[in-house]
This record gives sequence, structure tokens and C-alpha cells, in this order.
Amino acid sequence: MSALASVSFEPLVEVEGLAKTFDVSLPWLNRVVDRKPRQFVHAVDDVSFTIQRGTTLALVGESGCGKSTVARLLVGLYAPTRGRIVFGGVDATAVDARPRVMRRRMQMIFQDPYASLNPRWKVRDIVAEPLREHGLTEQGRTSGADREALLEAQVGELLGSVGLAAADADKFPHQFSGGQRQRIAIARALATEPEFLVCDEPTSALDVSVQAQVLNIMKDLQTKQGLTYLFISHNLAVVRHVSDRVGVMYLGRVVEIADKAALFSRPHHPYTRMLLDAIPDIHMSGRARTPVQGEVPNPLHPPSGCTFHPRCPHANERCRVERPQLLSFGSTRAACHAVEEGRI
Ligand code: SF4
Repeated sequence: MSALASVSFEPLVEVEGLAKTFDVSLPWLNRVVDRKPRQFVHAVDDVSFTIQRGTTLALVGESGCGKSTVARLLVGLYAPTRGRIVFGGVDATAVDARPRVMRRRMQMIFQDPYASLNPRWKVRDIVAEPLREHGLTEQGRTSGADREALLEAQVGELLGSVGLAAADADKFPHQFSGGQRQRIAIARALATEPEFLVCDEPTSALDVSVQAQVLNIMKDLQTKQGLTYLFISHNLAVVRHVSDRVGVMYLGRVVEIADKAALFSRPHHPYTRMLLDAIPDIHMSGRARTPVQGEVPNPLHPPSGCTFHPRCPHANERCRVERPQLLSFGSTRAACHAVEEGRI
């Protein structure tokens, strides 16, 4: 989702060594009776990336790869187990509770617009809630004008920015289609004038015919407002449409990260190649394809060494015992022994 006019090539978000471990142990008494140890899932493990202002980084991978956990860590819904998140030069992980001003500057759009909007509230109240919560209708902004009239005008403007009518403020969420509901969710996210939007599969619950409408609205808003996006998706075709850079995740780790053009034209990691081969070939190129093989292993018992080795056609003995590190290969960073050794 490039907005070249607004790109300053200065990172807005810097993530260093981010990790999140969940304790999924049985209750103490069950563990004692069944003689079971405590169990932990390393949902995110040593993830690092930066996002330049006004650009979109997409994180892709199959279900259970940890991309949604990264999204929730960034907006503060989860506390990281390790690592740092620097937002606008400020370490967001160094404080117990994020300051209100920082929370205002980053917002999240959730996957399911049917679940993320309160069905008992009118659209006016849904969109106005963040304005009220962050005091954006209070003194200094009203300058004597009637506060509710200003709120009405702001809600109408926000709905207009996502292609809805001001009169839609009087309706309830059930009166809208899925695509329109997601537009309402975007309008609500924009209410606090954020710089950074975390979008967790924002179109995957929508019909294909309306996905493009929502994606195009998001692109237009980025161009107009200089927004920075973290875009989470399992759909590489969508990612190709919206992103500037792409990170591929597998079992909690980033296994490849590169500019969009480089990743799609010359993927390095075998997992990235497998995902790309799963995109329908509408150009009928006749290129040989390797269908997606196997399934993501149980994260409670991840494979040794490279966690992708049970599914990888290039795995060897080193892959089974040694975990590959993310290394640079030109402008691409990839974690793969075969790439490092020049075998692929
Ligand atoms: Fe395959 Fe080995 Fe590379 Fe892992 S490190 S992706 S198993 S070649």
C-alpha cells in the first residue's frame, strides 16, 4: 500500500527480538494427579522488523504461525515475554501501561466486522466512542461550538472518508453488509487520527467481490493521511496488492523478509516458495509448482532444528539439528541452511 508522497524513510515502528510465551499447562491438581509437566507455547519467538512511515509491512503465514499474536503485541493487547517495541522513537515496552497519547496514535482493525461492532449501539455511538474516550471533543477543540454538533460533524466526516453517508450514523450494525461493517470499523479506527494501523486479516471474512473495495479504501486513506500499516494476512494475493514489504512467518519466527517485488519475483525460503506456489496461476504460465505439503506441526512440540524440516524438500541432517538464523542475501533476509549453503 505505497504512499510514496508521504514516505519519509524513517522507521515509525521498530521491533527487536520480540517473543511471547503462553503458559498452557493443566491446572496444578491435574498435573500432580496425571504427573504431567507444565507446558508452554512459544507463539512468537525472536521476531525483529522495522516499518517505515507511510508504508505497509505485511506478515503472512498459515494459521498458527504467530502473526496475529505479533499484531496484538504491537497494540499492547498482550505484554511481550521478551524484546522491545519502539514506536516513534519511544520504547513502548519500557512502561507498565502505555500512555494514552501512544494508544491514540495506534489503532487496530479486527478480522470479523460482525463481532467487532457492538450490535446494540448505533453507528454514531460506535464511531464517536474513541472521540469521547480520548477527549477529542473537549475544550480547545470546540471553541464555543456545541460539543454534540461538533461530534456529529466529525462522525459524518469519518463515515464519508470510508465511502458511507452521514445519514448511516442513525443505523445499527445489522443493517449493513459485511464490507460496510468493515468500513465502519475503519472509520472508528481513524477517529483518533492515528499514525499506525494494525490490520488483522481485515478482509478475510468478506466476500471476494467486496474485498477489493475495502482494500482500495485503505490504500486511498494511506495516500491521503500518510498512514503506516501492519497488515496481517494468510492470502498472498491480497498481500501482493497492498504491501511494500513482506515478512513470512512460520511457527512463531520470521523465516524471510524482503521488499514485495523481491519476495514475489525471487523467493528464497522453501516455505515462501511453497506459499507462492499455492496462488492460482491466472496467467497460465505453465511453471512447475510444488503443492503445499503437510501441515503446521503442533506448537507444543515443535520439531528440532529448523521447524520447517518435516515439510521441506531440501532438508538434510544439519536442518534436523541446527536452527537457522535470519541472514542477509542481498536485500532479502532469510533463515535457511540450504540458501546459506547455495543448495537452492
Ligand atoms: Fe528446509 Fe533446511 Fe532450509 Fe529449513 S533450513 S527450510 S529444512 S533447507
